[in-house]
Amino acid sequence: MSGTAPARLQNLWDDAKAAGMTEPERLVYRSNILGSDKRVTNYGGGNTSSKIFQKDPLTGEDVEVLWVKGSGGDSASIKLDGFATLYMDKLRALKGLYRGLAHEDEMVGYLPHATFNLNPRAASIDTPLHAYVPHAFVDHMHPDAIIAIAASKDSKALTQQIFGDEIGWLPWKRPGFELGLWLEKFCLDNPGAKGVILESHGLFTWGDTPRECYEQTIDTINKAIAWFEEKTAGKPAFGGQVVAPLPADERRAVAARLMPKIRGLISNEFKMLGHFDDSAAVLEFVGSRDLKPLAALGTSCPDHFLRTKIRPLVIAFDPAKPDIDAVVAGLEQATADYRADYAGYYDRCKHPDSPAIRDANAVVYLMPGVGMFTFAKDKATARISGEFYVNAINVMRGSSAVSTYQGLPEQEAFDIEYWLLEEAKLQRMPKPKSLAGHVALVTGGAGGIGKATAVRLLREGACVVLADIDEAALASANEELGKAFGKDVVRPVTLNVTEEAVVIAGFAKAVVEFGGLDILVSNAGIASSAPIEDTSLELWNRNMDILSTGYFLVSREAFRLFRQQKIGGNVVFVASKNGLAASPNASAYCTAKAAEIHLARCLALEGAAAQIRVNVVNPDAVLRGSKIWAGEWLEQRASTYKTDKDGLEEMYRERSLLKRSVFPEDIAEAIYFFASDASAKSTGNIINVDAGNAQSFTR
Ligand code: NAD
Repeated sequence: MSGTAPARLQNLWDDAKAAGMTEPERLVYRSNILGSDKRVTNYGGGNTSSKIFQKDPLTGEDVEVLWVKGSGGDSASIKLDGFATLYMDKLRALKGLYRGLAHEDEMVGYLPHATFNLNPRAASIDTPLHAYVPHAFVDHMHPDAIIAIAASKDSKALTQQIFGDEIGWLPWKRPGFELGLWLEKFCLDNPGAKGVILESHGLFTWGDTPRECYEQTIDTINKAIAWFEEKTAGKPAFGGQVVAPLPADERRAVAARLMPKIRGLISNEFKMLGHFDDSAAVLEFVGSRDLKPLAALGTSCPDHFLRTKIRPLVIAFDPAKPDIDAVVAGLEQATADYRADYAGYYDRCKHPDSPAIRDANAVVYLMPGVGMFTFAKDKATARISGEFYVNAINVMRGSSAVSTYQGLPEQEAFDIEYWLLEEAKLQRMPKPKSLAGHVALVTGGAGGIGKATAVRLLREGACVVLADIDEAALASANEELGKAFGKDVVRPVTLNVTEEAVVIAGFAKAVVEFGGLDILVSNAGIASSAPIEDTSLELWNRNMDILSTGYFLVSREAFRLFRQQKIGGNVVFVASKNGLAASPNASAYCTAKAAEIHLARCLALEGAAAQIRVNVVNPDAVLRGSKIWAGEWLEQRASTYKTDKDGLEEMYRERSLLKRSVFPEDIAEAIYFFASDASAKSTGNIINVDAGNAQSFTR
């Protein structure tokens, strides 16, 4: 379709693999290899089915069962439990209950009655589409190359031209019971057809064996890809480039300036998370002559616009005369205009029983020369929304090259977006976790207390940037937490908190990953021990640099970001009992920690008017998991108290009022309290987590 367009799809079917499988397993296999290539179907889009004869657990007789991808999930990773199973005879009987188009939504309520074998997986809205195609194996995919045909003004003629009678065409119809009946009629009227293109939507293909079905899907898509290659050879995409992309580092610098600002402007209802994409396909589109008119037409496939809203917001910017301040200043008006436009769409299209208007902000922001920002309530959705818009770009590239691209008519788009069944799905979603939508940066995030804190915040739904000077420890913490919580929500940033330029660059990098910042946990640290006479200037300065200056530098960046976003902010310092209580042979450490605590108080004062809270957690004697307690400090403390590690742990426990050991998780719990709304009315405060120590009682 263009220089960025892919070569042909590969046939991944392996008979040797498929031979040993049961029929349901072969369905999983077929789905996984189809879903593994995003050119075949977008994330979560499309579905597959097999009609399989199985023993009925009630009668012991062989019955025909429809195995069809259930509600939710993605073909690439679907397993057996992702499929709904329904009796085919009962599904056929449903036709007798159908009262016509105006009542088609009620048919969804009957589907659970057709469940085979008590399968708890909910049947999706597309179930009748698969049930009524009178073939044993059916694929429904959303391939970019096919949607490019389906979203063209003359898609029927193009389908005929490319595929002849092998692949048919049906006009746009919202998925549901009626479309299932249309598909059945099509198949009965065209017994020789191998598939059908659904206008503005996607592709149905079928076969008598799973392999035949799979290969029909791949061959049909490849035929479309080849046809586009031939038709578009030598033609510039989207009317040609009118804006050249900025160099990569400048694109990211612009993203770092804009994303927190956009995030602040659209996070009035919920905190939004951002994703940045400056891939070749995006840059080609945003730099093209036809960017504005094509973007205004909106997306076509229902999956595309459910994820990306009816249309994106195009940010006016000319990289030849880059005035980022002017762009930033114009964002407030641009986002307000978008919301007004969206409210107009809602008012024009709503029905008396439509659900209330949802968040009116754009999901997709396109910027010439820079790329695309997407925002959603969680990071995975923000990323996936971006991927969907890339699908839409691919569709527009193909369609606009060979015909006239058309988005879905506004009313049809609205009827899907505000479908009562869609609303019911949203209402069933679990309540968001307490830190959903929040971004936290934890310095010293690869250390004992830092990592425990990251885990605590991730468990509450936050996205976490681990910032640390220790690259190896950082890589392993990032790997561990990515495995436990998913790669979308954790990012590593190598950073020395004492270096001004590095801190500034590190925060900018973090901001491009998630779109902004809500929580700074300033925790990086060391410990040192020496009598005053033996304290070198270097040792003194090292403590001051990391524990005092380092805390100043990261707080200053966080404050700058918070003030851009204008949605409050939260800073938690991890200081020490030693910042309140003097301790023998540790004057440099104690003094630096005391400075840290006082810095927190000053910042609490400065930030309050902007709803920026600053609080302190003071740990004491957290031996387990801490790197501090693995090195010199351990030996020095042990020698000061004339004991060893076990003896020290015991000594600290006995020294505490509660006679208990303190663990990294205990510190993390206090940090979470300050980082969350549970402490919304607290700033300038200190919590000691030291199992009780009269010396450090605050007053
Ligand atoms: P830790 O050594 O396990 O973690 C500290 C982390 O900070 C390490 O990963 C280290 O690489 C990182 N770090 C050090 N210098 C840095 C720099 N210049 N820039 C960026 N990162 C840097 O120790 P921990 O016990 O988890 O300590 C965390 C915090 O808790 C420290 O501020 C420490 O002073 C404080 N604290 C700990 C205890 C305790 O008993 N463990 C007691 C009181 C206070």
